[in-house]
Amino acid sequence: MQGGVSRGNEAEQGKAKAASARDRGELHVHLNGAIPAPIIREILADEATELPPGFLIERDLLRNTPCQSLASYLTPWQALRLFPKKRENLDRISSAVFAGFVENGVRFVELRSSVLYLAHLQNCSPTQALEYLIESTRHAAHCHGIRRGLILTVTRGDYGAVCLSTLLQAYQDLGEPKDVVGLDLAGDEEIAYPSELPSLFRKAKDRFGLGVTIHAGETGRVENVRAAVELFGADRIGHGTAAGKDPHLLDKLGKQDICIEVCPISNRLTGAVPFDEAHPLQEFRRFGVPFVICSDNPAIHQRGLVDDQTIALDEGLTASDLDQQYEVAKRYSFIRDLD
Ligand SMILES: [Zn+2]
Repeated sequence: MQGGVSRGNEAEQGKAKAASARDRGELHVHLNGAIPAPIIREILADEATELPPGFLIERDLLRNTPCQSLASYLTPWQALRLFPKKRENLDRISSAVFAGFVENGVRFVELRSSVLYLAHLQNCSPTQALEYLIESTRHAAHCHGIRRGLILTVTRGDYGAVCLSTLLQAYQDLGEPKDVVGLDLAGDEEIAYPSELPSLFRKAKDRFGLGVTIHAGETGRVENVRAAVELFGADRIGHGTAAGKDPHLLDKLGKQDICIEVCPISNRLTGAVPFDEAHPLQEFRRFGVPFVICSDNPAIHQRGLVDDQTIALDEGLTASDLDQQYEVAKRYSFIRDLD
């Protein structure tokens, strides 16, 4: 359940409530990783979705213990990519996701989603799917009193450039709406991408003023972090854990003021940071690399941003770092005019 507390324990609830009183900004969270499990079950039933062979909802939908591999961590997406097929279920998702943010004291959020899978499921054009996503999340954000920006996610692989061009065309078709604040590259870091992809990201950044964040260095590939900065023009890096072992790169990230989106719970569950190693956020601080604590896929972890910030304290974050997190998130957010 999102929020990360046992509903049966009043002391825990009180603690979480007190913790939630702190204002928070969330810069790295995936829409379909933030849908509470009960809503997923309801929608799967409502849309009569057939799950992939061998997928057991009780076993495969959540990830709250360390996984053997990133592939194992990603198992829930075998089901998460199959809905919502109905327009109204997108609204159910948005509403539940923003309720989870409220529970965690989130005042503003950059929500990421790959719109193309939504177009496929809703049987509509990418432009229509982006419009649905904008409308649905705008309404939910308004109802919950949260500022939100959308980040369009492109998946690594052969079709990365086609995917980015299609998303940008949809964005232009809608008149370059202010709701969209950035671009993200996600997916398997072992997979190559088309050679023109980095320059397409940079051009989009220059032309539309969109922020660029790249999932990089999550599976130990330090060269992906370097490429994100040098080739893609990244303003922020998702995870970036591999950079912790490269002093030259840390120095560069600090000097160029590139913010790392640190997701403590996710990093331990995926094995991005092995259990017998310290989290690199201590190195980030030592080299003056800015970082912001984020939750990645809170509902899949059955936790929330409150828990990620609490666990970050065990990973080497100081109480004073934590006090500054809201301001840091504001400074590196792609959303303009945050108060
Ligand atoms: Zn992520």
